[in-house]
Amino acid sequence: MKLIEIGSQTYRECTVKYIGLWVTGLILESEYQEKLANKKAKKRTKTPRKKLEAELDILWSEKVKENARYTCEKCGATDKQLNSHHIFSRAHRSTRFLLENGICLCVGCHTFGNESAHLDPNSFRKWLESYRGVAPIEWLEIQSKGRAGLTVSDLEFMKYKLR
Ligand SMILES: [Zn+2]
Repeated sequence: MKLIEIGSQTYRECTVKYIGLWVTGLILESEYQEKLANKKAKKRTKTPRKKLEAELDILWSEKVKENARYTCEKCGATDKQLNSHHIFSRAHRSTRFLLENGICLCVGCHTFGNESAHLDPNSFRKWLESYRGVAPIEWLEIQSKGRAGLTVSDLEFMKYKLR
């Protein structure tokens, strides 16, 4: 990317997408540097939490299966592909990494079967309440709707507990 002086201004030659075509254009060097700095700052602030959450997702999933002794908790299968299902969606950050919110299911009971957790959530919930009890599931539901407010050190602590 070439630098070009025009008058007293410095421009940077860059390739940009314009109406679906890549064209070469000029951008003020000061604007370019500012954009670059913003991009870097964003990356820096995002990284530790995102990285931790990704690690926690893996640890959580592994622990849910391990606690179930690698057995589908619904049908008892051990010879099928096993998934760790979030009882309340992982979009709810407050319960995303709680082991109580996890259940080990084979792919049939998780996604593909007629009465699977994803295809028939109502009958899955009924089954779950008879398996775990109504109160624990209701507790979990309330937790899932609460504000997460998890700091990075909370996440670090969760990582420590999940190991
Ligand atoms: Zn199953």
